[in-house]
Amino acid sequence: MFDSLSDRLADALKDLRGKGRLTDADIDRTCREIRLALLEADVSLPVVRGFIAKVKERAKGAEVSGALNPAQQVVKIVNDELVGILGGETRRVTFAKKPPTVIMLAGLQGAGKTTLAGKLAHWLKKQGHSPMLVACDLQRPGAVSQLQIVGERAGVKVFAPHPGTSVGGEGTLGVSSGDPVEVARAGVAEAQAQHFDVVVIDTAGRLGIDEELMKQASDIREATTPDEVLFVVDAMIGQDAVTTAEAFATGVGFTGVVLTKLDGDARGGAALSVREVTGKPIMFASSGEKLEDFDVFHPDRMASRILG
Ligand code: GDP
Repeated sequence: MFDSLSDRLADALKDLRGKGRLTDADIDRTCREIRLALLEADVSLPVVRGFIAKVKERAKGAEVSGALNPAQQVVKIVNDELVGILGGETRRVTFAKKPPTVIMLAGLQGAGKTTLAGKLAHWLKKQGHSPMLVACDLQRPGAVSQLQIVGERAGVKVFAPHPGTSVGGEGTLGVSSGDPVEVARAGVAEAQAQHFDVVVIDTAGRLGIDEELMKQASDIREATTPDEVLFVVDAMIGQDAVTTAEAFATGVGFTGVVLTKLDGDARGGAALSVREVTGKPIMFASSGEKLEDFDVFHPDRMASRILG
């Protein structure tokens, strides 16, 4: 994960080591290299500019403190600012006071929503919750059965259109409707009736942003008033994630971001851009195809990982 960015940043900071005092020229040179490393990582330009300006200002104004040598001080500043652009504090799920908590997933097709629905359900179960999945991706052939397989693997019930399509335990959960908004609404009502305390709604995605998709997701949001709307985005698309995020922010609105496929992302541009640009926290990270390849996103841990 982010290997090339880590290597580049390590190189940029290496030259400062062993220096007793840093001149402005040293800091300018290091910042230039960090800037290039971030641009190469496909971080969005305004984010890079803001980041470099802050690092430069703090590094030049840094008092020489007893505990850290100048190079360590710059590393600490870079670390702090990385934590900042990654979101600062860890943002946890907001659970509804009155169950069920509704979590809606939105994003482009292939972003990893359906896979994520299973991982999230598995994680919720481990946290002591009783989640139910609702299959509202009625667009992509096979999406409903994929969710059912994922649900079975995670050991959670799946509410799906059509009678008899439920798996994951005894009893059939389902509704005879081909309308995703109806399925979502019926799913939440069913969860309430059956005392599931969290409902995860999987929605349809298209290959590109389109108005119909936005409208459908927005209608599902309106019908189910979710406690969280998670924008799911493939980290491997780099700063294109930002464009997609902006479209979803306008078309549907979301409360948090989930980065998927971090295992395949050597660069880190999506992770480092999306929080700053959208103002919404990255809440979870997905880094593989197994149920366990998933965790709450911790900005501080991610920054330490990037800096090695
Ligand atoms: P959806 O269209 O948004 O529902 O996307 P899917 O859940 O079907 O995922 C699309 C593809 O990405 C599938 O082949 C998944 O196995 C794969 N995938 C999902 N999440 C991850 C991840 O974190 N890492 C990797 N390597 N692959 C993933």
